[in-house]
Amino acid sequence: MKKTDNILSHRFRNNSKGLFLTNRKMSLRAKETLKRLKEEINKGNIEQREHESCPLCFGKEAILIAEKDRYGIPCETVICKCCGLVFNDSFFDEVSLEVVYEEFYGDINFDGVAPEGSFFKRTRPDAYSWKRFAFIALKLDTILKELKTIFEIGCRDGCNLLPFYLAGKEVMGCDFDEEYLDVGRRRGLNLLRGGTDSLVASGRQADLIILSHVFEHFVDIDKSIADVRKMLTPRGYVYVEVPGLLNWNRKRSDFISEDGCKSSNNFLMYLQSVHNYCFDLEKVSSFFERNGFEMVIGDEWVRALFRKSDSTELTKGNYYNPNSAERILAYLQTVERDFRSPTTQLNRFARKLLQKALTT
Ligand SMILES: [Zn+2]
Repeated sequence: MKKTDNILSHRFRNNSKGLFLTNRKMSLRAKETLKRLKEEINKGNIEQREHESCPLCFGKEAILIAEKDRYGIPCETVICKCCGLVFNDSFFDEVSLEVVYEEFYGDINFDGVAPEGSFFKRTRPDAYSWKRFAFIALKLDTILKELKTIFEIGCRDGCNLLPFYLAGKEVMGCDFDEEYLDVGRRRGLNLLRGGTDSLVASGRQADLIILSHVFEHFVDIDKSIADVRKMLTPRGYVYVEVPGLLNWNRKRSDFISEDGCKSSNNFLMYLQSVHNYCFDLEKVSSFFERNGFEMVIGDEWVRALFRKSDSTELTKGNYYNPNSAERILAYLQTVERDFRSPTTQLNRFARKLLQKALTT
């Protein structure tokens, strides 16, 4: 793609440095794993690729707004000039991605959290998995009773499936880490090792498929939705949750908090090299709608329910919108200006001092 440099600020340049507070909280083991990952990328052993065109509108021009992620890993974030889709244009290629998930991702992202402890934390009464269940149940209302089988792709330990299991539903999930899968299996959950293919191979169909913080990790979005569609019963539903670009990133005066989700004005903190897309609700909806779904409800965190529609044709929608890129760029520039304001910087300085005082 042809990229115009319009970096949000100097702190988004690729200098290989991660955010101070993120770095400070990391264990020695996580720091070493991160250093090794950066070395492997530099040597070309872990490969990153660019898109030939925008995955949503197929436009070929984009605006470069960031060169690294929160850990200082090379990560070119761009905004498509034609439709405003924000995406990672230095994504890990298929082979490298498996290596990243198997050898690096867990140490860096789930630093030192043991599987049993993680399950306990993610299923205690105030945990988000219950709020997620409540969100889905309240939106589906009486339809929930009719749903018999629930799948989750990228289920980790199955904590999102547990409330459905306890409500008498048949549940099935898939993921790659056996240690985490075992924790859920010990609670009676049917969890398979593997990706989407493992659920397809089961030959079963689901009335509801959960994609919680996995959709933004997919590379080929259209193919992923087509795979999901095949696994659904004719009137099946999909629940999609991704870190929504517009609510997670807001200037201080517009901060909001809901169900434990909180806005921040630190957009660099939001960026992760394994996230291939920074979606708002409109873009998630565009992808689903052109692949045979209609949105039932959604918000900008992003939490959204889609229902399989009768149409199996790609509708193409109206995702071509040249004003969208300017709007998104201006929005993120405002958030970044707010982050760099004296008030935010004073707060950050105070937090840095406190962190140093606590650890020395
Ligand atoms: Zn586009």
